[in-house]
Amino acid sequence: MRLDQVVFPPAPPGGVTEQHVHLGGSVPIYRLWEMGQIRGIRGLGSYEQFVRLAHRRPDTVTSLDDYLRVFDLVEAIQSGPESVRESIHVAVSGAYRTAGMRQLGPGGEGADPEPPLAVRRLELRLCPLKRTGAPFLRGEHAGLYDVDRIILACCQAAAETELIYRGEMQVGLIFCFGRDLTWEANAVLATKTRRWAAVYRNIIGVDLAGSERQRSLADADERARMRELFEEAAGTGPGSLGRTIHCGETPWVDLPTFIATIDALAPHRVAHPLTAAHAYWQDGDDRGLRLLADRGIVCELCPWSNHLTGALPIERTGALLSLLDAYHIGYTLSTDSPALQKTSLALEIALLLTRGGVQPEQIDRAFATAEASTFLPPRPARG
Ligand SMILES: [Zn+2]
Repeated sequence: MRLDQVVFPPAPPGGVTEQHVHLGGSVPIYRLWEMGQIRGIRGLGSYEQFVRLAHRRPDTVTSLDDYLRVFDLVEAIQSGPESVRESIHVAVSGAYRTAGMRQLGPGGEGADPEPPLAVRRLELRLCPLKRTGAPFLRGEHAGLYDVDRIILACCQAAAETELIYRGEMQVGLIFCFGRDLTWEANAVLATKTRRWAAVYRNIIGVDLAGSERQRSLADADERARMRELFEEAAGTGPGSLGRTIHCGETPWVDLPTFIATIDALAPHRVAHPLTAAHAYWQDGDDRGLRLLADRGIVCELCPWSNHLTGALPIERTGALLSLLDAYHIGYTLSTDSPALQKTSLALEIALLLTRGGVQPEQIDRAFATAEASTFLPPRPARG
């Protein structure tokens, strides 16, 4: 069956909430190339070379580290207040226009005259320190651009987009600590997040992202250190920010480390917690699943991204959702990097319904859970 002929469950009124989208993966490839050309970023190559490099697809990406490889260049292109502002505008426009489409043009442009759904609440995540002009230095150098200017530009752009769409689109920012960043850089991010979240309500959460191979957090001292940074950035008690973490996407995070990391960082949501599912499938060990259930932690799943990194073939997604259902664990569906994967939320749902063994009621459940577990404030009253 062609993906544009898949029958969708009725879309929720008011649109869908998408929780897990990276700014680095949300600017279309052609647009990144233009931005890079205009700004004189080196290493872009020809357009064809750049498309081949940037497109996250199964024949060139087989692991999380492969998947992450292009982001240094993308983050260099998106560096500086002007670029980050433009990137956020393009990312939100992309979500607004194309997230509900089942067909995309070669450059990622929308080509679906009757989209079956629409994203109207978007949680967009990024690491501001990786937009300071030297992402490949992992924070060893302060960067070319001032991180306060980057954060201010991010917050203003997010606020502008809400004005542009006249309240039809809600946008929140999640700032990502880096498993690949120096501790000093992560500490700067914690301080800046706390300071700016007190000023701009667009900052809604914190995340931990990056290569699990580089910092698995198997070490208890490292977990304690990350916990301090999370607490400083997100705060505790009323008014604190939402907490999510990428954890258990690869075998570098084993089940004991997965459990200990959840314990230390106390997230509300966890992205790609495949370690918990694999431990159950391979060894019948359900400690990770029970922990998620007991704490009411919601799983952010990105099916095509998980397929590309080898975390879980798309054909196994139905089995994963059924396992989470059996343990009463909530899950949501997102695209991770829609522009670089050349997908959309609607396309991925069509894939799940045709190839993934997923039932329409599981899609409905994911939509409802995304709405209930978003870090965004309640929808503003329309008037
Ligand atoms: Zn992610």
